[in-house]
Amino acid sequence: MNLRRSYRLRGVVQGVGMRPTIYRLATQLGLAGFVFNDGQGVIIEAEGPVEKLDDLLVRLQSELSPAARIDEIHVEETLPIAGTGFRILESPREGIRFTRISRDLATCDDCLRELHDPTDRRYRYPFINCTNCGPRLTIIRDVPYDRPRTTMAGFAMCPDCLREYHDPQDRRFHAQPNACPVCGPKLFLLKADGTTLDSDDTLETVAQALRQGEVVAVKGLGGVHLACNAADSQAVTSLRSRKFREEKPFALMVSDLNHARQLAFINDQEAELLTSVARPIVILDRKPNDVIDDGISPGLGTLGLMLPYTPLHTLLLESCGLHLVMTSGNLSEEPIAFRDDEIVPRLKGIADLFLLHDRPIHLRADDSVVRVVNGQCITLRRSRGYVPDPISLPKPLHRPILTCGAELKSTFCLGRDKQLILSHHIGDLENLAALEAFETGLEHFQRLFYTKPEAIACDLHPDYLSSQYARNTGLPVLEVQHHYAHTLACLAETGDFSPVLSWTLDGVGLGTDGTLWGGECLLVDKLDWRPMARLRPIPLPGGEKAIREPWRLAVAALWSSDSEEAKSLAMKLFPGRPVATIVSMLEKGLNCPLSTGAGRLFDAVAALAGVREEIVYEGQAAILLEAMTQRHYPEIVISRNDPPSYSMTIGKGEIIEMDWRAMMGQVVQDRLEDLPPGEIGARFHATLVNTLLEVTRALSNSTGLTRIALTGGVFQNRLLLGNLWRGLEKAGFTVLVPSQIPLNDGGIALGQAVALWLAQK
Ligand code: ZN
Ligand code: ZN
Ligand code: FE
Repeated sequence: MNLRRSYRLRGVVQGVGMRPTIYRLATQLGLAGFVFNDGQGVIIEAEGPVEKLDDLLVRLQSELSPAARIDEIHVEETLPIAGTGFRILESPREGIRFTRISRDLATCDDCLRELHDPTDRRYRYPFINCTNCGPRLTIIRDVPYDRPRTTMAGFAMCPDCLREYHDPQDRRFHAQPNACPVCGPKLFLLKADGTTLDSDDTLETVAQALRQGEVVAVKGLGGVHLACNAADSQAVTSLRSRKFREEKPFALMVSDLNHARQLAFINDQEAELLTSVARPIVILDRKPNDVIDDGISPGLGTLGLMLPYTPLHTLLLESCGLHLVMTSGNLSEEPIAFRDDEIVPRLKGIADLFLLHDRPIHLRADDSVVRVVNGQCITLRRSRGYVPDPISLPKPLHRPILTCGAELKSTFCLGRDKQLILSHHIGDLENLAALEAFETGLEHFQRLFYTKPEAIACDLHPDYLSSQYARNTGLPVLEVQHHYAHTLACLAETGDFSPVLSWTLDGVGLGTDGTLWGGECLLVDKLDWRPMARLRPIPLPGGEKAIREPWRLAVAALWSSDSEEAKSLAMKLFPGRPVATIVSMLEKGLNCPLSTGAGRLFDAVAALAGVREEIVYEGQAAILLEAMTQRHYPEIVISRNDPPSYSMTIGKGEIIEMDWRAMMGQVVQDRLEDLPPGEIGARFHATLVNTLLEVTRALSNSTGLTRIALTGGVFQNRLLLGNLWRGLEKAGFTVLVPSQIPLNDGGIALGQAVALWLAQK
């Protein structure tokens, strides 16, 4: 009987003729398999009779070249694959451990066919999967990846499944989550109070509940969704109030591309993303329709759609025949619920029914979110379906690293050799629950990727929980400026770190001068970087509070423009607000930190234009302003005069300042003349795009650079990003926009990792 073993050799084993020796010995012994070098040494897999395998090791050690030294041999039994021949493989560009772990994969066509075949033994089985599809990262407890180290450990395969598992000809050969109705996970139902609900037809019971307008908690792949009928405005409203999520848009799951096309405009690229194996939520332009409730994405012209990615989702959508709201199972702002013991306690009072199963989820994974702009996919949240695919560096790291990211949309990043592993989405790192999710996620990733960090990086902002975590590790800490990190994350995707001008338009990030940045153009040349241009800073009366109450920024903007009229105008525009208090804070400079953040400029304009005085989710005023503008100018193509621009002055000096004060006055004039917010929004977008274009030209002339990066959360605004991008390309610039790495703060950890890599001696 043949065995297959893998050997890891450490020591002085590379560049000393080790691989040819092994090849010669293995071939003489008639063994099958391969050998290659990786970041840690040599890896051999050999298959053959046990005595020949033993021989291989003995002879290897006696026939070593004098230069070689084996410090350690680690042997593991693996399952024979009946291979033939022995080969020397090229060294993988990535450490082998990094490649062993797959992202979660949407149900493949073969499995879908079986799912719908009444003669198949897995007909309508909600956990069907194979080597080409199914859960991966979310069920892995430890490495190497095999069944006992996954949450499938508790399910012993039946003889039929085992036969498939061991048959190299079978699609389920070594499919670790392999299962069937006889031996695999099962569905069950709980009532709203958490007690068992017996049902002859689980999915039909759920379908009925959904049709009746109930909210159902559905345990899926990486966590629990809250589902309800997207056409039922009562159901949507009650889900919103129970979840304390007043206005933030809900994502929808629809059964297939045809149904998606009824709700939204979908081009080929978007269709490809929707049906890709990662199955992200794709942000699409909504078609006018009365099929779904307006409360799904209040005030917005977009919809976040996804297609089923597990067999359970497929069956669920088929049985209810509805478009479903599928929003993460949590109270607003908390991490998504995924552990079996927390689902009912946390979602009691929100869900009327629980559709659960007995396959534990080991790692939570939120749905990923993408959007197509200017023919390129941009990533707004990188999580399920994409993580943990590594991002490669052009040259290896000298030592393993960890980076802790920023605060909002938190992720961390591990690096080893040439590989950077950006974590799943953790959420806003603003409370202890999120910090715990950060720490447990980190611990898990370190184990999975055999990485014990020896250097660490975090944001320059000392108060972020992530920065505190970094300092508490006791490792040498590199503090990386937020927008420099945004830029490096963008460059990492291209692998080209030559000099670039980088527009980092963002909400908030601490600058090197102690003020809050987010409206800069940076010149970045590897370790050398400096701001070349920036927006005029605006005071934030009340700090954080000004971010939630854009009317405060509007007052600050008017006050900054120095006109005596400003105060009375502000009183007129915001009659119910304590304008005088804010003005006196501004005059005394009391709790009014300065910020160049472009997000704040949008907030101020949105408030002045009458869009929104207070917000209930991050960036809402700016998002609504964009939506209103889009409605007003469905095909907005910004040129010099259409729509007419406001005046933004471009200063001189070492750092070019873009001064918005005159513009604010013009915005107010337009508001007082009752121009619709969409028109004001269009003029503002045009002004900003034209100003950025002009400053780019000036900076390009003075520096000779023509590579322009666009990154930072404000570029999630498609009007701004798309128009500036096209404008720059038209002017002959090479434009870099991150695609797989989030251009918002979800990408910061990756940029910090690049900073550590650049800084290594
Ligand atoms: Zn499959
Ligand atoms: Zn089975
Ligand atoms: Fe940022």
